[in-house]
Amino acid sequence: DRTVQQIAAGEVVERPASVVKELVENSLDAGADRISVSIRAGGTESIRVRDDGVGIPRDQLPEAVAEHATSKIGDVDDLAGGVATLGFRGEALHAIGAVSRLTVRSRPRGAEVGAGLTVEGGDAGEVTPVGCPEGTTVEVRDLFFNTPARKKFLATETTETDRVGTVVTQYALANPGVAVSLEVDDRERFATPGDGNLRSAVLSIYGREVAEGMIEVSFDATAADHDTPVDRVHGLVSEPEVNRATREYLATFVNDRYVTVSDLRNAVLSAYGGQLAPERYPFAVLFVELPTEAVDANVHPRKLEVRFDQPEAVQSAVEAAVSDALLEHGI
Ligand code: ADP
Ligand code: MG
Repeated sequence: DRTVQQIAAGEVVERPASVVKELVENSLDAGADRISVSIRAGGTESIRVRDDGVGIPRDQLPEAVAEHATSKIGDVDDLAGGVATLGFRGEALHAIGAVSRLTVRSRPRGAEVGAGLTVEGGDAGEVTPVGCPEGTTVEVRDLFFNTPARKKFLATETTETDRVGTVVTQYALANPGVAVSLEVDDRERFATPGDGNLRSAVLSIYGREVAEGMIEVSFDATAADHDTPVDRVHGLVSEPEVNRATREYLATFVNDRYVTVSDLRNAVLSAYGGQLAPERYPFAVLFVELPTEAVDANVHPRKLEVRFDQPEAVQSAVEAAVSDALLEHGI
């Protein structure tokens, strides 16, 4: 029933940024090397995500937008290690189609023609042949056109745009090997080269000054002489002086998934040990890798929080990794 469908959709599709998150995850799942995100009017007028991934075969298009499409999850254990699993419920496209005008156009690699399908407020049309580049383009127009209450709940265009920017930035940083771009109202915000280098991704997003002033963090437990639950800590952190960040910016990833965890934030902050210049804030992009069994399995994989089995040990390992990096630069 339509109402139930729309309520279920609300679980997945809260705002434009959540649509963008789902679509970008699908593109990554499809093995894309290039993902272009484009939005208009904070994403309420349109959201377009184009990728050069494997594509969706014509006969699978209806299934892709159907309720409970085959999910990519293998078994319950995948859920437990949820931080490493992207798509797992098989309902994102369906949910998005229930509350917007959704068009999916796709041409699988090597296929001669593409195929397209439109879903309007839950009503799926026919699959038609379309000309399109290899890969998949998903376009979401008039988000929440049929759920005015939800539309009213959205913040200003600027705020929704910022949220989309934050999501796309997180994925661009987490995947420096993928060329990710963001266009807002026909103007390019950033485009990463996809060369696999974190510093070039930071450069494209935040500019030369930020990128050049960053120090490399690299800790590998196999080379460490003590026991730690953490396998690897790597990324970039700012120098306390040079950094021009006017507000704290810490992007932390656990097993390549963006998370907001106070243990990690505190670890970074205490590594600086009060050395930050006045009105200067740390800027960090940090990846923490640890065995999935050391991450709390009870935390929902779609949530940004994770819990560690040994939070203190993780915190001190991350703090040590960052302080070592700073120390090497005489900080
Ligand atoms: P899930 O990602 O959990 O499987 P979705 O509703 O997000 O569920 O997507 C449904 C299906 O549509 C995917 O399993 C995939 O087969 C296909 N699909 C969606 N987006 C893409 C894409 N960008 N490239 C290739 N296939 C896609
Ligand atoms: Mg998905």
